[in-house]
Amino acid sequence: MIGRTVQAEKMAVLGEFATGVAHEVRNPLATIKLTVQALEKGEPDDQRRDLLVAVEEEIDRLNRVVGDLLDYGRPVAGEPQAVGIRRVFRHATVLTSGLADQRQVTVSATGDSRLAVYASPDQVIQCLVNLLANAIEACEPGGTVHLRAFRNGNRISVDITDTGCGMDAETLQRVTEPFFTTRQQGTGLGLSITRQLIELNGGDLQIHSVPGEGTTVSVTLPTANSDKLELASPSHTKEQSTA
Ligand code: ADP
Ligand code: MG
Repeated sequence: MIGRTVQAEKMAVLGEFATGVAHEVRNPLATIKLTVQALEKGEPDDQRRDLLVAVEEEIDRLNRVVGDLLDYGRPVAGEPQAVGIRRVFRHATVLTSGLADQRQVTVSATGDSRLAVYASPDQVIQCLVNLLANAIEACEPGGTVHLRAFRNGNRISVDITDTGCGMDAETLQRVTEPFFTTRQQGTGLGLSITRQLIELNGGDLQIHSVPGEGTTVSVTLPTANSDKLELASPSHTKEQSTA
């Protein structure tokens, strides 16, 4: 009986997910079709360019949706290992530095360089990239994003704090739903993938937000012993400063 209920629930979730995917794919396709039809009718030259740009933008949107869906389909638990917080911060900030520059947002990080989590490095980095991108995108030019790692009992917490737009209670409740987005360029998959990956790695994710003031996303993961870390990445053991 219980098995059947769980199965029915899974099918309901799958149905909802498929509806979401269909919607995200069909909208840009409809726009592309209408635009191509307009081009076929022979628009004046100055309008042709705008229409072609519109088609290209919709193709880009489809690409983003498909890219994020691939991430969604992949989260088999990666191989956990000791991974230094410094390494995670460095990779994640490098991968989002283009976005931060473009948005004129300053990203900084602090944390004891000996802190290490026990998790899949790729997945932790991917989560941090998603969270950093959200934080940067929430900010106006001149805004700041701060990463902070600290020991939290026998776990490690990472806080990502931004001075961005924040979220009201209603938005906050929906943010980890697949396809929920308030952004023009958004797919609404980032946070739902991130939560899934964090949980797969034995961690959890919490969000505190004040509209108009900013947001802190807290990720908590299992700790790795620092002796394991030294074995795992000897090239990083000489670095001393904080991230
Ligand atoms: P996307 O970034 O594609 O919109 P996400 O799942 O990453 O999808 O985020 C969903 C929504 O959550 C965003 O559209 C935004 O409304 C809200 N959100 C996420 N992170 C933040 C943040 N740091 N500050 C304000 N709003 C946020
Ligand atoms: Mg996002």
